[in-house]
Amino acid sequence: MTESNPLLAPTGLPRFSAIRPEHVEPAIDAILADYQAGIDAMLASDAPRSYASVMAVAERLDDRLSRAWSPVGHLHGVKDSDALRKAYAAAQEKIVEFNTALGQNRALYAAVKAVADAPDFAALPRAARTSVEHELRDFVLSGVALEEPARSRYREISNELAKLSTEFEEAVLDATDAWSEHVADAATLAGVPESGLAVLRAYAQEKDLDGWLVTLKQPSVQAVLTYADDRALRARLYRAYGTRASEQSDEGRYDNSERIERIVALRHEAAQLLGFASAAEESLATKMAPSADAVIAFLRDFVAKARPMAERDLAELRAFASSELGIETLEPWDVAYASEKLRMRTYALSEEELKPYFPLPAVIDGLFAVVERVLGVGFRPREDVEVWHPDARYYDLVDTSGRVFAGAYVDLYARTGKRGGAWMDVCTTRMRTDDGLQLPVAYLTCNFAPPTATTPSLLTHDDVVTLFHEFGHGLHHMLTEVEVAGVSGIGGVEWDAVELPSQFMENFAWQREGLDLIARHWQTGERLPEALFERMQAARNFQSGLFLVRQLEFGLFDFLLHHRYDPARARARWRSSRRCGARPR
Ligand SMILES: [Zn+2]
Repeated sequence: MTESNPLLAPTGLPRFSAIRPEHVEPAIDAILADYQAGIDAMLASDAPRSYASVMAVAERLDDRLSRAWSPVGHLHGVKDSDALRKAYAAAQEKIVEFNTALGQNRALYAAVKAVADAPDFAALPRAARTSVEHELRDFVLSGVALEEPARSRYREISNELAKLSTEFEEAVLDATDAWSEHVADAATLAGVPESGLAVLRAYAQEKDLDGWLVTLKQPSVQAVLTYADDRALRARLYRAYGTRASEQSDEGRYDNSERIERIVALRHEAAQLLGFASAAEESLATKMAPSADAVIAFLRDFVAKARPMAERDLAELRAFASSELGIETLEPWDVAYASEKLRMRTYALSEEELKPYFPLPAVIDGLFAVVERVLGVGFRPREDVEVWHPDARYYDLVDTSGRVFAGAYVDLYARTGKRGGAWMDVCTTRMRTDDGLQLPVAYLTCNFAPPTATTPSLLTHDDVVTLFHEFGHGLHHMLTEVEVAGVSGIGGVEWDAVELPSQFMENFAWQREGLDLIARHWQTGERLPEALFERMQAARNFQSGLFLVRQLEFGLFDFLLHHRYDPARARARWRSSRRCGARPR
């Protein structure tokens, strides 16, 4: 089986073209069995407990699982199918169960504790010590300190939560694919620019239809809500998008309501078993923020400061919509549309005007040039590495001496079967192994509008910022010099700190020097004109008050839901809150 199952290859990059859904479960079964045997053998050994005899052994066993599971999770995200989804869910359940059991293995906990208590612990390198400390913390968080029956109950909850999360995600994906509106008459799409129409035409062609297909995929939602003059169409799309996987759509077929309630209740119960006041407090045990109350106080203070600006933004938008657009009552499906018109009026700046300056190939070249100039890091495309789709590319990262020290898979276009949004994920982690140094490799995934028959993929400036953001995460992972897997790259970084390199990288997409490397008109080759750059800077804070309070509401909602949990009130809280949704972004 080892020869025929690509997921069991001992080294090297994933063989994406060979991986089939039927490989997933046998590979994971075999790896988990070896993993368990390796842990058992290590625990049975009477060698003194040391970093090398305990932690390094566990790290290598864990890395083998990661190297098989990472490509499966990645394919589930970027090239999903019914068969893969089933295989993924089944294997994930096994892995979660295995990890939960491992986290509750008291002999293993004792072995790691013995490493920390050994006299030579203080002499270990900082990375190794931190890795041990994190491990001990995670043992406590996974319920190892609990007595029966709490320990078994905790395990049950973990398994049920994993299953519910997968079902939740699948319902959202299915509900997104289930809705579409076929448009045969061009007049219905008046206002939508040619780039948006091309996307909608491509969706129609995929389904062998003439005309245009409005869908719930990001590029379609963005184009219609921002530009379509047909207010009723915007309203229908907004409702469909905002009620995906709820009791209000698809006759409740993909309704996630019960799952949400169950997830919140189980998280609360699990947190209390571990001795935390709430799931919010538990989540902060691995983060920088000191307490849920501190987070809530911070967010409320922020709301108090941002609210006057948001109210000004909204009042301005309402007045403009009423006097200039004839919209008496501004509804949620009018916000993006009216904003775009107001932005045009105020700054004479539209995303459409900027897009021709951001053809994806030029933006990528510019991004690489920025990284090369600032960090001395080059991206070298490799043609001999297997990928999962013709749109995907692989790059070696090289330093100034030409030494390859990392790799990146880059997959940027939206397509069917690919989860929406933009993200960075780990393929491999830099670490010392039996075969030498394993290099860090990242997946960088976006959902930009694909090229059409006549134009390259043209990005909005928002898209450009997103691309830089995700590459910031990728560079964080790939530029690591640490060789201990637990704290290498983005491993072990607090979640409320992990956005620093990504937000830092965004700045280059706003600076003249950066934009001179990034922006290149796709027809004329011209750089971004100074006047356009100045208007872009002026418009940067356009409606930022509204945007900020929306983000703050997400944060507050999440913390209040998980911190002030009350079974009787939970349902009312998230149901009432959902109505406040603003434009998708
Ligand atoms: Zn991020």
